[in-house]
Amino acid sequence: MKPKIPVAVLGATGTVGQKFILQLQNHPWFEITDLVASPRSAGKTYAEACAWKQNTPVPENLKDKVVVAAGEKLQSRILFSGMDAEIAGPIEENYASEGHVIVSNAKNFRTHPMVPIIIPEVNPDHFEITRRQPWKGAIVTNSNCVIMPASLVLSPLMDAFGLEWVQLTSMQAISGAGYPGVPSYDILGNVVPFIGGEEEKVESEGQKILGTLTETGITPAPFVLSAQCNRVPVVDGHTENLSIKFKKKPSPGEVVEVLRSWKSMPQEAGLPSAPEFPVVVFSQENRPQPARDIWTGKGMSACVGRIRECPIGDIKMVVMGHNTVRGAAGAAVLNAEAFVHLGYLD
Ligand code: NAP
Repeated sequence: MKPKIPVAVLGATGTVGQKFILQLQNHPWFEITDLVASPRSAGKTYAEACAWKQNTPVPENLKDKVVVAAGEKLQSRILFSGMDAEIAGPIEENYASEGHVIVSNAKNFRTHPMVPIIIPEVNPDHFEITRRQPWKGAIVTNSNCVIMPASLVLSPLMDAFGLEWVQLTSMQAISGAGYPGVPSYDILGNVVPFIGGEEEKVESEGQKILGTLTETGITPAPFVLSAQCNRVPVVDGHTENLSIKFKKKPSPGEVVEVLRSWKSMPQEAGLPSAPEFPVVVFSQENRPQPARDIWTGKGMSACVGRIRECPIGDIKMVVMGHNTVRGAAGAAVLNAEAFVHLGYLD
């Protein structure tokens, strides 16, 4: 058996960082070697530094591990980043310059022309651009947590029918705002129709993910997306209403058929974090629901339901995904597995 690859979690104490800990616990290829957070947490044990909000206790092997400050020298080859975007940029870049491979959730490098936004089922060929990056190591990102499940759905549909435009209205969970996040007074019994910077990310990242790798970079896929993002009193799981105009109009049955039969590289390669089905189509008229369905495919499947004709576009549907798993930590771990599997770490 090959020795496990040492990995670090940057932002280990945060909402996404805690999900990294769970995703990496007992991972067959990776072993958590460094826990990294702000200078406020440095020097404390992980249990002391962290406001642990998961449904299982802090893992025994990590609770007494001492957290180090971001910027310290690290042993780990792969660094999973769940750092606050306010500070993630220069810290990630310094580590990449030193030769580390950064697999990041933060938005800072997603718009960089030489940094891919990877979903291994959708665009594993985009890893190739990391060979043209200016750093000794590499930076790979995963998308915003809203466009993640939407892209998993749009990718096979674009291949089958072509895309003209997409309208997306989100109902986003509070865990998407980190901890402590939105004040309870603002979110309980309420809907907040604004999430700073979110619509801009949702309206642009999908085109890069579904785009084409060329000699000069990644050419975005030529469709437009209009997003309206809302924060709702749900703990985990972003729900999205999509209306889609295709180049070639499919029937609802054809859409179901394409989504149900779709599998891709991570499924074929049996990557440890890959769900059996990247997209799961529900037939019940009142599903998917975040309270019932977020753990579909261990939180890694995009859940879809209510696929029907749209009188303005062609087809409308509901898409739901686990925002801190498939939309964050799980996505990054799957990205790292794909990076290793495809030989980019060698
Ligand atoms: P969070 O709960 O607020 O956690 C932020 C983390 O960043 C904490 O570990 C914090 O450490 C660390 N940090 C803050 N200042 C730092 C500094 N100066 N140096 C090093 N580390 C520092 O936020 P989150 O929701 O986990 O989000 C983390 C990142 O993932 C953000 O970039 C966010 O946009 C992105 N993201 C989040 C989601 C989601 O659903 N939550 C989904 C996709 C992407 P201390 O505890 O020491 O302060």
